[in-house]
Amino acid sequence: MIGLANNHHIYDKLINITAAEHVLVNEQLKDHTYTHLGGMADFYVTPESYEQVQEIVKLANEEKIAFTLLGNGSNLIVKDGGIRGIVMNLQKLNEVKIEDNHLIAQSGARIINASREALRANLSGLEFACGIPGSVGGALFMNAGAYGGEIKDVLVSTLVVNREGDLLTLTAEELDLAYRTSNIPDKGYIVLEANFALKEAQYEAIKEVMDNLTYKRESKQPLEYPSCGSVFKRPPGYFAGKLIQDSDLQGKQIGGAQVSLKHAGFIVNKDNATAKEYINLIQYVQATVKEKFGVELEREVKIIGEDL
Ligand SMILES: Cc1cc2nc3c(=O)[nH]c(=O)nc-3n(C[C@H](O)[C@H](O)[C@H](O)COP(=O)(O)OP(=O)(O)OC[C@H]3O[C@@H](n4cnc5c(N)ncnc54)[C@H](O)[C@@H]3O)c2cc1C
Repeated sequence: MIGLANNHHIYDKLINITAAEHVLVNEQLKDHTYTHLGGMADFYVTPESYEQVQEIVKLANEEKIAFTLLGNGSNLIVKDGGIRGIVMNLQKLNEVKIEDNHLIAQSGARIINASREALRANLSGLEFACGIPGSVGGALFMNAGAYGGEIKDVLVSTLVVNREGDLLTLTAEELDLAYRTSNIPDKGYIVLEANFALKEAQYEAIKEVMDNLTYKRESKQPLEYPSCGSVFKRPPGYFAGKLIQDSDLQGKQIGGAQVSLKHAGFIVNKDNATAKEYINLIQYVQATVKEKFGVELEREVKIIGEDL
């Protein structure tokens, strides 16, 4: 697709909806992804209100422009050619509030911060999320989970914008949350807000669980390097990390991307990797595990954008 960055008509409309400081042109996405991968976005837009989100969706529809939603970029790889059209990030919609036993978080808030707010309010239920480096929106998108807990256990309802730009309130059941999936991609919903039902508990008890999970994470995961977390879903009857380890792939490097020496299920951006190198290494791991064990490793992480 031809880039739109020089399209002044679209730029003017975008700054009319938001403001010039919220619309970046030819913005490097590797500066906005947890993996530090990705080429340029034609327009990188960070709206400040739900109305602005609705207006941007409507503009993309009217002008027939490609539209991509980026959270904290911790579960996706943006290719080196970047993304054409509008890339929207909701980082400025990041409020978290407590109402009785409910925690209501805007989708651009970090799920880690939501988890910490719950602790401060003596509310239990979001401890599992204390080390997941994504946004609330990204967490709903893939029903993020860890150490026996997942979004599905605590989500009551969500406010979304649909493909037409309308606001909808949905129950958690309406999102079809299941192991690392939801119907958000199929329906094209943009999550604006999530309402979690939590339970009162002792501050010390919640903190102890969070501290234990943080210790487990820090001792097992290569958090010193950028990465996209576990690259592969758990194959039925196996563990992806164990299969990769038993294929002698730990330490395997393509360019700046490396199969982590600390956790075989992670591929780290060790030394300014390109997305191409990172993706080539993913494919190399898949092919090797398939050849050695006959198991297909399905990617958990999404790949988006264009090649250079
Ligand atoms: C070190 C590390 C550890 C991790 N540990 C875990 C873990 O324990 N458990 C786990 O489940 N995951 C884990 N992850 C993966 C990742 O953090 C989660 O999947 C997280 O929920 C992704 O959120 P994000 O904001 O980064 O989404 P992104 O990667 O930015 O986007 C992922 C998808 O979500 C969509 N999306 C983002 N925001 C919205 C929105 N507001 N509305 C609709 N769609 C949206 C995007 O369009 C994209 O398709 C880990 C990742 C890393 C790097």
